[in-house]
Amino acid sequence: MRTEYDVVVVGGGPAGSTTARFAKTPANSVVLFEKDREIGVPVRCAEATSIPDLGRFVKINPCWIASTVTRARLISPSGQAVLLNLPANGAVLHRRIFDHDLAQIAADQGVEVYTKADVYKIERSDRYWRVYVRHLAHDYCLKAKIVIAADGVESRIARFAGIRTQTVLKDIESCAQAMLANIDVTAGQIDFYFSSKWAPGGYVWVFPKGDHCANVGLGVNGAHFDGRSAIDLLNAFISEKFPDAARLTCVAGGVPVAKSLKQIAVDGLLIVGDAARQVNPVTGGGILAAITAGNIAGTVAAGAIDQADWSLKTLKEYQIEWDKGVGKDYSRFYNIKEWMTELSDPELDEIAELLHDIPPTEMNILTVFKVALRNKPTLLFEAIKLFAKMI
Ligand SMILES: Cc1cc2nc3c(=O)[nH]c(=O)nc-3n(C[C@H](O)[C@H](O)[C@H](O)COP(=O)(O)OP(=O)(O)OC[C@H]3O[C@@H](n4cnc5c(N)ncnc54)[C@H](O)[C@@H]3O)c2cc1C
Repeated sequence: MRTEYDVVVVGGGPAGSTTARFAKTPANSVVLFEKDREIGVPVRCAEATSIPDLGRFVKINPCWIASTVTRARLISPSGQAVLLNLPANGAVLHRRIFDHDLAQIAADQGVEVYTKADVYKIERSDRYWRVYVRHLAHDYCLKAKIVIAADGVESRIARFAGIRTQTVLKDIESCAQAMLANIDVTAGQIDFYFSSKWAPGGYVWVFPKGDHCANVGLGVNGAHFDGRSAIDLLNAFISEKFPDAARLTCVAGGVPVAKSLKQIAVDGLLIVGDAARQVNPVTGGGILAAITAGNIAGTVAAGAIDQADWSLKTLKEYQIEWDKGVGKDYSRFYNIKEWMTELSDPELDEIAELLHDIPPTEMNILTVFKVALRNKPTLLFEAIKLFAKMI
């Protein structure tokens, strides 16, 4: 390990590996630190994403794809099911392999990668950062021009730089998930259950990972907590719907369903991925956002090192690009999420009933929102702007 790097990336998830890859040029030095012993493990994700969107940033390796998805089934509290065609081919990934490969692609560009390397403090010193990392029981202090905070939802690195990262309860979903085997799943279809019985202010997902196997999980909105933990609710759901299932894995974690942080760039530091709350607030999906943001952040960081100016003046380009692109869409999704989390069970049933009369060929995500938001013209306008371009 060197004592000085141009760019230090903290976190080996999709955000960190992608930023590192795009930050690396033949002329600069980039290092990535991951505190766990293995990149991609443990998997705290339901692993669903859009293949065409992912393909804009990385060549898709078929090994990453556990199953492809073309339909979604929405199930209302009283059990009415609405089947809809999805706009673009989706997939449930093997994130264990996917995350590992993203780091390997970065390493192949010349990025140094260290696992079991926990960055426990950063300090500003003149135009540089002092980065303190504990690697295999040894403490190191390095000098960096740019630090990338890609340390996930529990990010501490951004806070060391003085940025407020607290998220209010209503903007956090507490999630629990199990990978179930020995269950019946419909190939090509993902299921969502909406009901305060199973997931107050959130939903249950069943994402197939191949024959007889699926990621089954749920998220509970922090403002709707009623004393039952996400794990308790998941256990109850599995006992009722999949009584014979075997549990191959079990994980819990938080998903920010907030607006992206207002400030994601300061002198010598960029915040990327979950650490910056770059997650679609309606779906809770953050894989694509992490990679999109990593692409922008890495490119901006490489340019800053090249120009020998890593002050906010140069780095703010990342903030500008994010805010005018995905960030703008996510602000609209946030308004829709605020409305969705407050829907009562009777309202959800009423929407399902109205959707019953729509012919299957016309049933897509935009149709669902057109019906659901029929009395909310402003939100309907936002939904049309978001979903019309996806269909
Ligand atoms: C239950 C659940 C289900 C989800 N389902 C989906 C889904 O279906 N689709 C989807 O798109 N998104 C989903 N998400 C969200 C998705 O997992 C995240 O948005 C995505 O992983 C964000 O990537 P990231 O690189 O920002 O953060 P992470 O993947 O969390 O990576 C951050 C990394 O930083 C490391 N780290 C943290 N602190 C330090 C430190 N001090 N030093 C060194 N390393 C550090 C961590 O160990 C971790 O590996 C889900 C999340 C949860 C919890």
